[in-house]
Amino acid sequence: MKNFSDLIEEVQNPGLCQRCGGCVAFCTALNYGGLSLDEEGKPYFKYPEKCIECGLCYSICPETHELDDDVKKLVGWEPPMGRVLDTFVARSTSPAILQRATDGGVVTALLLHLFDKGHIDGAIVTKESGLFQRKPWVASSREEIMAAAGFHFDSSHGLALFSELYSTYSPTVVKVGYMGAKRMDRVAFVGSPCQVSAIRRIQALGMEPSNAITFVFGLFCTGNFIFGDEERRRLEKIGGFQWADVVKINVKEEFMVHLRTNEVRRIPTEQLAFMKRHACHFCSDYSAEYADFSFGGLGSPEGWTTVITRTPLGRAVMTDAIGSAVEVYSHKLDPTLATDAFAKTREWSDRKKQAAETNRLARKTTA
Ligand SMILES: Cc1cc2nc3c(=O)[nH]c(=O)nc-3n(C[C@H](O)[C@H](O)[C@H](O)COP(=O)(O)OP(=O)(O)OC[C@H]3O[C@@H](n4cnc5c(N)ncnc54)[C@H](O)[C@@H]3O)c2cc1C
Ligand code: SF4
Ligand code: SF4
Ligand code: SF4
Repeated sequence: MKNFSDLIEEVQNPGLCQRCGGCVAFCTALNYGGLSLDEEGKPYFKYPEKCIECGLCYSICPETHELDDDVKKLVGWEPPMGRVLDTFVARSTSPAILQRATDGGVVTALLLHLFDKGHIDGAIVTKESGLFQRKPWVASSREEIMAAAGFHFDSSHGLALFSELYSTYSPTVVKVGYMGAKRMDRVAFVGSPCQVSAIRRIQALGMEPSNAITFVFGLFCTGNFIFGDEERRRLEKIGGFQWADVVKINVKEEFMVHLRTNEVRRIPTEQLAFMKRHACHFCSDYSAEYADFSFGGLGSPEGWTTVITRTPLGRAVMTDAIGSAVEVYSHKLDPTLATDAFAKTREWSDRKKQAAETNRLARKTTA
């Protein structure tokens, strides 16, 4: 039976570990406690002596592809980019959410809608934990869900913190391992495509506490970024801004840096390869193909979110929220906006798959 040592050899050493945290979440949830994450989010054998060689961390790793067919069956996946029921361009009806949100605040609006209606006890989200740093968090109140909205840049901590290494990545899946202790039975999960994939793999195995994850929210993703001192300086130069003036970061067609002056500096994502996490170069999922619904800013006007519903559950939640928690962009104002947003998402999805294939081939030929 293959175990974590094989993951180190086959996935970590070649640089393919997406740091989704699935292996750690699983080992923790089963109370084996052999694995942990280091400061950069990389899983490691913390207590090798606790490993019973159950092999489950190996099975659930997205890079071993052992559970691909089970996961596809579980969510009714269809080519080329997962099941698509509807596409909406939407936003929250709450001014408070809109003010905080990354795009149209639909993720937060739907989480609160589910919470207020008693469908969830909480949500696994990420919250700001420093200047430009987020950490995974189990939010169990309205205030906590609200506090997780957006993608802000809090420079109030002062520039002294700039000597640290920052990452836009937040290992939310690991929180699943600790959910049992929180005694939550119905929890929504928000994460990047690789994290959604890890959640679905845990669910495909039908193991506790993954059945408590009742709604899976996926975020579009071109990649996560790691900033050291050098990368930050380089980014300032490319974008023509100073970090002290930054209030918000967003990623759509471009990496968008929002400044205090209300100006937005746009940097093509291709120019950011130098700070992209290594594994992201080999990732083929742009639109969170295994989620109940997927969310991104791509294709939507500023302040709106593109929403793709993928499962009957996702569709039911969205339909129920429209007209109360969420409003949809007026069809009269732009009858083709949602269709165009979907076409753009399909284009970016194809592009990401092609790039991943090219990079994997190049890796094989140079190995
Ligand atoms: C690293 C990253 C890259 C992205 N890349 C793209 C892209 O290329 N194209 C695109 O169209 N959209 C991208 N998105 C999605 C986009 O930024 C918005 O999250 C999405 O449009 C939803 O916006 P909203 O206003 O509805 O969400 P909000 O209501 O603001 O809620 C955002 C939710 O995202 C969660 N979150 C924030 N940061 C992270 C993180 N690092 N990891 C996991 N969860 C997080 C928060 O906990 C919150 O629940 C990316 C998001 C992230 C985090
Ligand atoms: S106990 Fe199982 S899940 Fe944990 S490290 Fe060992 S093989 Fe992996
Ligand atoms: S399960 Fe995720 S974090 Fe663990 S080795 Fe595989 S890709 Fe890396
Ligand atoms: S590109 Fe996004 S989904 Fe893919 S491995 Fe990187 S963070 Fe995960």
